[in-house]
Amino acid sequence: MNCLFCRIVSGEIPAKKIFEDHDSIAFADINPQAPTHFLVIPKKHIDSLALATEADKEMLGHLTLVATDLAKKSLPKGFRIVINSGPEGGQTVDHLHLHVLGGRAMHWPPG
Ligand code: 5GP
Ligand code: ZN
Repeated sequence: MNCLFCRIVSGEIPAKKIFEDHDSIAFADINPQAPTHFLVIPKKHIDSLALATEADKEMLGHLTLVATDLAKKSLPKGFRIVINSGPEGGQTVDHLHLHVLGGRAMHWPPG
């Protein structure tokens, strides 16, 4: 399997895991863009948000709640959740992931 994040799910590539359940895992981003920066991903491979369908709505809701629960615990002053999709969206790993960022004031508009 070639997908980097599928290899993190399988344990083939190590990651600093902070949460795991039946359908998802969360781990620290290797190149953090804020004092707190972790990723929440589905264990089941899906390329991007752009490919999600009605059949994925439960998974998307679950990922959003997992990311929010984790964020609320460590980032009481607020946080940002981002999903990059496609090359112009800034997506570099083609396995759907939510970025959770916090620990500093976020800027708007994003770059
Ligand atoms: P994207 O640019 O696709 O929205 O986000 C991909 C994220 O994955 C980037 O923030 C990048 O730092 C992170 N990343 C890339 N390779 C690895 C890796 O091997 N391990 C971890 N933990 N994060 C990675
Ligand atoms: Zn994958």
